[in-house]
Amino acid sequence: IDWWKASNLQGYAPICLGLEDFYTRRLYLRIQDCFGRPISSAPDAWIDVVERVSNDNNKTLKRTTKISKCLNLGSYNYLGFAAADEYCTPRAIETLKRFSPSTCSARVDGGTTILHTELEENVAKFVGKPAAIVFGMGYVTNSAVLPVLMGKGGLIISDSLNHNSIVNGARGSGATIRVFQHNTPSHLEKVLREQISEGQPRTHRPWKKIFVIVEGIYSMEGELCKLPEIVAICKKYKAYVYLDEAHSIGAVGKSGRGVCELLGVDTADVDIMMGTFTKSFGSCGGYIAGSKELIQYLKHACPAHLYATSISPPAAQQIISSIKVILGEDGSSRGAQKLARIRENSNFFRSELQKMGFEVLGDNDSPVMPIMLYNPAKIPAFSRECLRQNLAVVTVAFPATPLLLARARICISASHTREDLLKGLEVISRVGDLVGIKYFPAEPKKQ
Ligand code: PMP
Repeated sequence: IDWWKASNLQGYAPICLGLEDFYTRRLYLRIQDCFGRPISSAPDAWIDVVERVSNDNNKTLKRTTKISKCLNLGSYNYLGFAAADEYCTPRAIETLKRFSPSTCSARVDGGTTILHTELEENVAKFVGKPAAIVFGMGYVTNSAVLPVLMGKGGLIISDSLNHNSIVNGARGSGATIRVFQHNTPSHLEKVLREQISEGQPRTHRPWKKIFVIVEGIYSMEGELCKLPEIVAICKKYKAYVYLDEAHSIGAVGKSGRGVCELLGVDTADVDIMMGTFTKSFGSCGGYIAGSKELIQYLKHACPAHLYATSISPPAAQQIISSIKVILGEDGSSRGAQKLARIRENSNFFRSELQKMGFEVLGDNDSPVMPIMLYNPAKIPAFSRECLRQNLAVVTVAFPATPLLLARARICISASHTREDLLKGLEVISRVGDLVGIKYFPAEPKKQ
């Protein structure tokens, strides 16, 4: 509810607050039988979903385990690196043997291996910034870095659908927070205008500094950030741009360098570039890339660098290796193929869903595509039927979305084959008819 109040969705609150108890108690209890299950395989195109079946016909309450092989349309494994990879996996195993699963130390007291310094150099080069710092967790990157860079007297203007790690980091900073309508540059400008008078130099403004925080691809909407317009506005009003590329780095752009590359934005115009390694790179951790001074400052002042154990060496090696593959430095063209495939797969899947009559959010090239269910009561039937037909999808509802904007969030990977996608479409179409979520007339099939 706290998070809810900070978003610009409070308009829905009167309806939601009364029903919150109902939803958490009844609806989520029912949804749990669909996606609260453990998985016993890598998050590849197909996964093993574990189901515990109680066989109490003879009142013995014996429980057996049943494994269903499901097509995975819910993972952030955008480039397929999270599964066994001919280049990355042997190197990660080798690192595990040579180093260990953990450095058992913070970066400043023995937790900096040669892999950590190599990783920071490679990340900076990859995203197109002079320097980078890495952290053990993407969530912590936002929530621990924002309070170091911002404070009382500062102003954070945040997209209304920014991730919870950003919301928490912004709150923890003590800065004043304003929210602008999701991905709407004109509203951002209106908020900025309200806060400062146009044309005044930075030192004459009521704010010590201003951050505008946006995401490259919005994970619940599948939308690309309107970055060129947002950057232009920030330049005009002398605000810093903080860009979270958790879902876009590695996944979009000709060479996987994210939304700046895709939308033709100069990385010099984005002051603070944040991203995670948990999606396209199939590893864990997060990074901040920016000027040398910024990174130097974070290395001295950020508690998550000073007091938290550094990224596990095999995880660091996995990121280094996957970046090499993406850039073709492994000596193969697999990286370019993966990038072409995720784009092709995403655009094919999105257009086929639309032809079937589903309402699909998001933009072309985005591997994230929410199918609107609207009524949250449709979630249990949708996810249960999908699972019954061996399809693993993630459904999202209040409070992660407004109450009446429930959705199934599909994530496409380069590791999906065309057959996988056709199978997924066939099942979603059947379940869509059953649950009644084809809100548009279907396009007639070409003979
Ligand atoms: N930022 C965004 C936009 C995210 O979607 C997420 C998680 N999906 C995070 C940060 C946190 O990253 P991680 O899961 O790597 O901790």
